[in-house]
Amino acid sequence: MHTDPNCLFCKIAAGQIPARKVYEDERFLAFHDIHPAAPVHLLLVPKHHIASLADATEADTDWLGAMMALAPRLMREHGGAGGFKTQINTGPDGGQEVMHLHLHLLGGPRPWGKGG
Ligand code: AMP
Ligand code: ZN
Repeated sequence: MHTDPNCLFCKIAAGQIPARKVYEDERFLAFHDIHPAAPVHLLLVPKHHIASLADATEADTDWLGAMMALAPRLMREHGGAGGFKTQINTGPDGGQEVMHLHLHLLGGPRPWGKGG
């Protein structure tokens, strides 16, 4: 599996940096965002390193689909049963700060903070 030793989310996936993990399997890891923008704010990441959605190709369709299909289950189990928002920031103009593809899952009772 391709990982990047200098990547924050690869380090979290490897257990080298602590995170509030809520889910893990062979392919994915989910943990609480350190600066939540909603009452429930999870990050769902592939364990292998891919910098952004801009790098995805047809070869990535299987795990990308599995990642989307996992999202509702995680949100149901972690306080987002009333609905949630999904977001993938991609590249500099997409506001991406951590260059390891991740799916934001935002939910919980409204009102949220700004931008909710
Ligand atoms: P993005 O702007 O889409 O790249 O989002 C990166 C997200 O990672 C932000 O919402 C940060 O709050 C979050 N984040 C940064 N460092 C950590 C960390 N060590 N643990 C959990 N979340 C983090
Ligand atoms: Zn990485």
